[in-house]
Amino acid sequence: MTGASKPMGPIPPGFAAIDGELAIGGVRARDWVARAGGAPLFVYDAALIAARIAAWRAAMPQALALHYAVKANPFAPLLAFMAHDVDGFDVASGGELAAVQAAGVAGGRIGFAGPGKRDADLAAAICAGVTLNLESAHEADRALAAGDRLGIAPRLAIRINPDFELAGAGMRMGGGARPFGVDAELVPALARRLVASGAQWCGFHVYAGSQSLDGEAIVASQAATLALVVQLAETAGVTVPACNLGGGFGIPYFHGQRALDLAQVGDRLGDLLDRRAPALAQTRFVLELGRWLVGEAGVYLAEVIERKQSRGQTFLVVDGGLHHQLAASGNFGAVIRRNYPCAIATRFDAPADDVAHVVGCLCTPLDRLGDALALPHAQPGDLVALFCAGAYGASASPAAFLGHGPAREMLVSSGSAIVA
Ligand SMILES: *Cc1c(COP(=O)(O)O)cnc(C)c1O
Repeated sequence: MTGASKPMGPIPPGFAAIDGELAIGGVRARDWVARAGGAPLFVYDAALIAARIAAWRAAMPQALALHYAVKANPFAPLLAFMAHDVDGFDVASGGELAAVQAAGVAGGRIGFAGPGKRDADLAAAICAGVTLNLESAHEADRALAAGDRLGIAPRLAIRINPDFELAGAGMRMGGGARPFGVDAELVPALARRLVASGAQWCGFHVYAGSQSLDGEAIVASQAATLALVVQLAETAGVTVPACNLGGGFGIPYFHGQRALDLAQVGDRLGDLLDRRAPALAQTRFVLELGRWLVGEAGVYLAEVIERKQSRGQTFLVVDGGLHHQLAASGNFGAVIRRNYPCAIATRFDAPADDVAHVVGCLCTPLDRLGDALALPHAQPGDLVALFCAGAYGASASPAAFLGHGPAREMLVSSGSAIVA
């Protein structure tokens, strides 16, 4: 098929061709698939993640701690790898807590936010010395009761639902009425109560939104967070041992999007922390990032099963689909469907002389991974690569839907797979 193609997002840096094929971590995509035992396969390049962390530390103020938000990708070898490179982990369920503990991370390095924590989750966190970011006064009561039952003073912080949101964020999680966090106006009374209860008072957590590429907006939200935390601490008359400033750093998925200016955010946040109010002089500051750390390091590889023509259009039907990579199909929180970056991995540097739809093997029209993409002419047996697959891929997709089964996953470094 020829005809008009639709744009796709930019292929992230760090991927080269070897003998004309896409290489990930210095090894050809086809070789990774062979080593894994077949496609579909997620490959995560540990070197790219390590480079991200190093760039973050170089750009950000020294005193700032980096937490990994496990929700983005809980693959066990990746958690074990991250355990050496980040300062802490943020989990959002009892299952994520168990996964991080299994990676050998001590509870003192873990924060637990998220609505609807069950009593068993609270107890597991308290036993492990995890900091609970409380989402409501009722959750606070249940955490204190669990601490009493266990004879352990729980480590408690309050997640604040601020009266602002992260402008331009792909997903807003603060401001207005939310299931997340305690409304700011209710925070001082709760903070006083927690301090008086004899719990280990840990401070505040604010998470205003996700997937922002706008450094100015991120810094504005951090500035508003600092001001709010100072005001609430002074009103309550409590100290602020720690303050989790959230994250929200995004990555470019779509045509026309540009990478976040890390140096800009680092410089401006450094200024903000240098000029912070005396109430925050002793506070330990944390940022929690998921997709920015791991999203661009992952590639989803699926094999072309069919090259099908229908009424003048070409469909490349692959052996994967939205059951592994829901976000690329546009069905994970997107308002309009746009094309993720995509390539024919086995013809990576061939000219894009074809226009094709890349569709998955699910029997639903939702299963479209690429819409009218300009690609090299692909045949059955070729591998399609979808980029930006390191975050919200395998664990954020309905793997049981239609019974094809899960994708394989691999963390790779220096030419070999890292096994859990
Ligand atoms: C989802 C979430 C994150 C991670 O968001 P990313 O966009 O992956 O960086 C961090 N903290 C909280 C509280 C979250 O809900």
